[in-house]
Amino acid sequence: MIFTPEKCRVPDQRMKPFIDPDEIWDIINTTKSDHESVLAVIAKSLSKQRLTLKETAILINSTDPELIEEIKEGARELKKRVYGNRIVLFAPLYVGNKCTNNCKYCGFRASNKEAVRKTLSDEELIHEVEALEDNGQKRLILVYGEHPEYSADYIAHTVRTVYSVKKGPGEIRRVNINAAPLEIEGFRKVKESGIGTYQIFQETYHPEAYKNYHLGGQKRNFEYRLTALDRAQEAGIDDVGVGVLFGLYDWRYEVLGLIRHTNHLEACYHVGPHTISFPRIQNASKLDLGSDYTVSDEEFARLVAILRLAVPYTGMILTARENPALRHEVIQFGVSQIDGGTKLELGSYADSVNEEQDLNKEQFQINDNRSLNEIIEELLENEYLPSFCTACYRLGRTGEHFMEFSVPGFIKRFCSPNAMLTLAEYLEDYAPQKTKKKGWEVIEKNLEDLEKKTDPKHVNDLRLRLLRIQSGERDLYF
Ligand code: SAM
Ligand code: SF4
Repeated sequence: MIFTPEKCRVPDQRMKPFIDPDEIWDIINTTKSDHESVLAVIAKSLSKQRLTLKETAILINSTDPELIEEIKEGARELKKRVYGNRIVLFAPLYVGNKCTNNCKYCGFRASNKEAVRKTLSDEELIHEVEALEDNGQKRLILVYGEHPEYSADYIAHTVRTVYSVKKGPGEIRRVNINAAPLEIEGFRKVKESGIGTYQIFQETYHPEAYKNYHLGGQKRNFEYRLTALDRAQEAGIDDVGVGVLFGLYDWRYEVLGLIRHTNHLEACYHVGPHTISFPRIQNASKLDLGSDYTVSDEEFARLVAILRLAVPYTGMILTARENPALRHEVIQFGVSQIDGGTKLELGSYADSVNEEQDLNKEQFQINDNRSLNEIIEELLENEYLPSFCTACYRLGRTGEHFMEFSVPGFIKRFCSPNAMLTLAEYLEDYAPQKTKKKGWEVIEKNLEDLEKKTDPKHVNDLRLRLLRIQSGERDLYF
């Protein structure tokens, strides 16, 4: 095993709440952080071992600007070692915004009478997917409010519909979902529809704070949400994503909450979350939180770097909630996935009359409105390798296997080549001339780098596949 999960506090913690606020605060309040201990923790992380809560608290409690720089540098280095220069791209697709919950931070909350409610019809859903395919997207996350209409059967139906849409060379090869927690039976149905990751954010791991923000509906139940991923695992969904909505409570506590959740999943199911998300509160229709736990840009960059070091093998998702400059800065501290060409209004990929956001029709404000191609251009300029790869999930390399495979040899053999193959498809099918030229230069540079690090026969095989893509073949992967 690569991981050293902390031991369960009781022999079997499955389905049991695992957050103890006193324990987390006690760790924060009693853990000392000095030069030596911070450097030792960074070194442990660079040897690709996951950190304990206490070790993570050493990083959290470090306030010396020089040490904060060390933490960021460590995160940068770890990202290079574990992920290389790949950045995976996706887009969110809102399917329905009816909601019976009352989350104070969300424009879709039931009490917001100004919210314009909509559920895409099958035809509208198909049009959205066609528009996304026309942009070059291959990976989507479908998003739903919590409402009796959005049952497990309905969610499974929408996932199948999305997979069925093929337009020109376009197809969606991975559909992830972000939806309300289900019972085990419901999760089974959703799994059968072929989802990639099931993502659900706890929002805040502090039960008292949680109560203050969740004023009505099923989501009021902290523990039911907390144990959602246990039920998903019991239903056979081993590819899951966790997250915190930063700005609801003290960020230091929330970072440890995320690590505790990771420990829990690893201890009980031998597989941690595939991804961690760290949305920050943005403006929303009639937003009035009644609290102030605002996370500054500086704290945000720091917490991303700390998360990277704490869970070296977990994917990290940074969304268009953040503005381009901040995204540019934070990506280097360990982000592995970003969205591009994002639109939140229901139906707006196919039918975008309005460039301005109308917050009564959207969940929250986004701050990066760039098209997918603009995002790709920026990534290429900065020597990143944009990827639309979906190979692992389609070959069944998920869950425990996925984690074992996320090692350098695996990345050289599979991830980097597949990133190049999927980028090549994008360049051939969707990119304007300028992006295409730059993109092929970046691929060539990556091939040369790979030649220095791995078996030349493998790189030759990759070169041949890239030629096949240039002559019209699609969906080639290792
Ligand atoms: N209804 C589903 C649920 O509550 O789990 C889907 C939620 S939505 C797509 C995904 C996430 O957006 C939420 O879990 C929350 O963390 C985040 N979110 C909600 N309101 C937000 C706001 N005002 N600013 C930024 N993120 C927000
Ligand atoms: Fe509904 Fe989700 Fe918004 Fe809460 S966050 S009001 S559950 S859509």
